[in-house]
Amino acid sequence: MAFIENKSGDILYMTSSDLSVTHAFTTRLGGVSGGIFKSLNLGQNTGDEPACVRRNYELLGSALGIDTAGFVFTRQVHGTNIRHVSKKDMLPVFSPVPYEADGLITAEKDVPLVIFSADCVPILLYDPAGCAIGAVHAGWRGTVRNIAGKAVEEMVRELGSYPHDIRAAIGPCISVCCYETDGDVADAVNRVLGRDASGYVIPRGKKYHTDLKGINCLLLMRAGLKPENISVSPECTSCSSGKYWSHRVTNGKRGSQASLIMMKGSMH
Ligand SMILES: [Zn+2]
Repeated sequence: MAFIENKSGDILYMTSSDLSVTHAFTTRLGGVSGGIFKSLNLGQNTGDEPACVRRNYELLGSALGIDTAGFVFTRQVHGTNIRHVSKKDMLPVFSPVPYEADGLITAEKDVPLVIFSADCVPILLYDPAGCAIGAVHAGWRGTVRNIAGKAVEEMVRELGSYPHDIRAAIGPCISVCCYETDGDVADAVNRVLGRDASGYVIPRGKKYHTDLKGINCLLLMRAGLKPENISVSPECTSCSSGKYWSHRVTNGKRGSQASLIMMKGSMH
């Protein structure tokens, strides 16, 4: 259960050896965008040149061997809505998305789910037995409201998955080394984890260091996933801000990483 660095042309992206399905956690390396978006910006609301962003999607599509005519995107709002999507929700890059959700699930093949992050926790889910996938964006607000567990619940309820079949990969995000927070985050973690919280919120002076990866991992286990089916990227977007965009390091002047997952149909 390791995270692997993949290179295709100039594009660099990460995958988890635990997910035997087409997927990627992108880095900021290998695209064509310039300036603060240099270079593999996949965010569509950042102010980057649309032609560059489209080209970046084409580069990612050819790296993964997928069509770039349509993707399922979502307007992320740090909520806990999980949307069950299908081919009908696929849109070209730069189309307005008519709904808000921070998680996407589907059982359809050839439907690429995409979420964005630049410090927040990207989580990709794959049920190889039930043939279902999910993509989740978990900032601290989504994390403490258990969006990870909710995504698993929705895969069970909507798609017939069993939690013990589901594989999860928690991608590169800001890690406990750099994620300094105030007491409000610590309080919220205490509320969701109870006495388990202590290992995940470390007091340091008047601040706290919060382990969002660890909390999401625990919440996935509470939702019924087996520990051995969860892989966690060791990388921190803030420590590795040359490789990944970090919202904190850039003060929000940045592009976006994408996390993408898709089950390929039989014709591929
Ligand atoms: Zn760090």
